[in-house]
Amino acid sequence: MNNKKFELLAPAGDLEKLKVAVLYGADAVYLGGTSFGLRAKAKNFDEKQMKEGIDFAHSHGAKVYVTCNIYAHNGDFENMAEYFKSLEEMGADAILVADPGVFALARKTVPNLDIHISTQANNTNFLSALFWKELGAKRIVMARELSLEEIREISQNIGDTEIEAFVHGAMCISYSGRCLLSNYFTGRNANTGECAHPCRWKYYVTESTREGEYLPVVEEERGTYIFNSKDLCMIEHIPQLYNSGVYSLKIEGRMKTSFYVATVVKAYRQAIDDFLKDPALYEKRKSYYKEEVSKASYRGFTTGFYYGSPGSEEQVYTNSSYIREYDFLGIVLEYDSENKIAVIEQRNKFSVGDKAEFLTQKGESFPYEIEEIRDKEGNTTETANHARQIVKMKVDRPLFKYDILRKKAEGDESEA
Ligand code: SF4
Repeated sequence: MNNKKFELLAPAGDLEKLKVAVLYGADAVYLGGTSFGLRAKAKNFDEKQMKEGIDFAHSHGAKVYVTCNIYAHNGDFENMAEYFKSLEEMGADAILVADPGVFALARKTVPNLDIHISTQANNTNFLSALFWKELGAKRIVMARELSLEEIREISQNIGDTEIEAFVHGAMCISYSGRCLLSNYFTGRNANTGECAHPCRWKYYVTESTREGEYLPVVEEERGTYIFNSKDLCMIEHIPQLYNSGVYSLKIEGRMKTSFYVATVVKAYRQAIDDFLKDPALYEKRKSYYKEEVSKASYRGFTTGFYYGSPGSEEQVYTNSSYIREYDFLGIVLEYDSENKIAVIEQRNKFSVGDKAEFLTQKGESFPYEIEEIRDKEGNTTETANHARQIVKMKVDRPLFKYDILRKKAEGDESEA
């Protein structure tokens, strides 16, 4: 195997998720500031958090990319140059840009700061990629609608310009987020990051003279979900991504939980490391990676457009639920190795007697039966069920801050 390496790129919706992503093995994270990004609803980073996040990532050898991918109107440029300069001063490793005007301003004001061209710019061919390369882009994020064959062709034509591609997470039914469904139904604009996800709702057909009579398109009593895509998952196709010239493997989901980020990042980290070390080992462990990645919620998996246009089997017609095989019970805040006591912040109810497991950033996960829970004051309690309740539990094996307590879910589905 040659020396070329992948980059595993993870979403960082807030500071905790950034730290989780880095500790569980991401080589880089992407995040939004409070201005000029697309994910308005994600808890974006203010200046202080951004600085802390960048310093944390750098101290662990990881990079930070900041999304500045709005489609700017004339009035949006106010303060943008200062913002770029402050990102550069804070040590951001690159900005993600979609709009040519924003790109031009960034080149002028921060010529030494790397620019990645966002998927929002719909990069679907090598001439577009060359266009951005010649203007100075360091990296191009591929449109989700490309096949591996098309990516290979682009890669062969753009020299050392890096290629980033989505490998895991939710898919839009529309063209890379260019969608008016949300705007039409709710007034919330998908392209400023406020999507209400109406593609996940259920739809019926009505005949114009039969008011109130709803005809299902597919016979299923809860209606049909004609726009509801499965989630992308390429964990079983790492060699194919490698051979197509993709450098950065991007996980979608700045709105997801720390549990989701930890689970998905760790699974891809293992898959990539195994593949780079020994492709035969990777082939042998493929079903394990898939099983691990499935412990984060998903809507069924698809390989999207990578092997050609998705067919009807890439949609979920029967419901809009997530499959959730594991519950996120809590996250480790501290571990006292002398007394073997873990301090845990609760995220979902758990009780004495639960058969849980720890997902650890280092080494294999391990089973853990909850025998005793103590509250902050040291009193025993049967259950941890207050939001973000701090509890203490005896755990013999060493833990680290941000290790995660999880449990196999009793029902396997939850509403999206
Ligand atoms: S409604 Fe669905 S398809 Fe449209 S932008 Fe939102 S998530 Fe994407």
